[in-house]
Amino acid sequence: MGTELAQDMTGRVALVTGGTSGIGRATAQRFAARGADVVVCGRDADRGRRVAEELGRDGNVSFVAADVTDEQQVVDLLGTMLDRHGRLDYAFNNAANIEAVTGSGALTDTSLAEFEGIVRVVMTSAWLCMRHEVPAMLATGGGAIVNTSSVDAQLLSAGTAPYAAGKLGLEALTITTAKEFASRGIRINAVRPGAILTPMLERHLTADTEEGRARNLARYESVIAMGRIGEPREVADVVTWLCSDAASYVTAQVLTVDGAIG
Ligand code: NAP
Repeated sequence: MGTELAQDMTGRVALVTGGTSGIGRATAQRFAARGADVVVCGRDADRGRRVAEELGRDGNVSFVAADVTDEQQVVDLLGTMLDRHGRLDYAFNNAANIEAVTGSGALTDTSLAEFEGIVRVVMTSAWLCMRHEVPAMLATGGGAIVNTSSVDAQLLSAGTAPYAAGKLGLEALTITTAKEFASRGIRINAVRPGAILTPMLERHLTADTEEGRARNLARYESVIAMGRIGEPREVADVVTWLCSDAASYVTAQVLTVDGAIG
């Protein structure tokens, strides 16, 4: 099968959590361009409906509001999706919020509630999603899941404990769950993005002046061998490839997409 044919997703259905911004939005766009029907999810319904309209042709992209840290909302999300499309072929568990990054801090400055909140959004939410996505995929013979980790799970820098631990835990969940379902037609992988220009990263770059922002940007670029930060579509292409039949023998892997940091 040619590569283009192997990446054709016509007749398939994709779910993208955190699909209303940044990496998730770019990935939803990629799934739709390859012919899939796409459901994007996020908490902000106004933005969600706007994004679905911007990305969709003939209603092939739709929005469902859900907070993926809440099991009932995940159950309802999958229920709505299955009512709408009758199947689930690809899931990109990607949602996380900026507070999970900025809230990570020094050990004694972080409360138990803050720690648990960050781990819940960056790790537990994807476990919850997989718990309900896998049965839906098994019902139609299989599928492919990609979870979003972070280069922070590799760098393990001081002061990033809850976020880095949550993302490293997510990599463990990806690999163990992949092995659990490998013989039943489900492939599960993770992407580990480096610095990608999204609203989340923009919050780190923002400064009072243009020069301040340029200095912040230069600090990121100085540790990236390719000398630039990445674009959301550069992660989206890897995610959709991992989901496609072109990656039919790839499972239980964590793929770094960071322009070579360090
Ligand atoms: P972003 O542009 O801020 O987008 C985050 C998305 O997640 C939004 O659609 C947001 O919508 C949704 N979201 C947040 N919390 C949610 C929740 N509890 N339930 C459902 N949806 C939720 O961020 P991004 O940079 O694309 O980040 C996407 C993923 O990549 C995250 O997992 C992040 O940790 C990871 N990552 C990013 C970078 C980077 O440099 N950008 C690097 C490494 C890893 P609502 O706010 O409406 O819910």
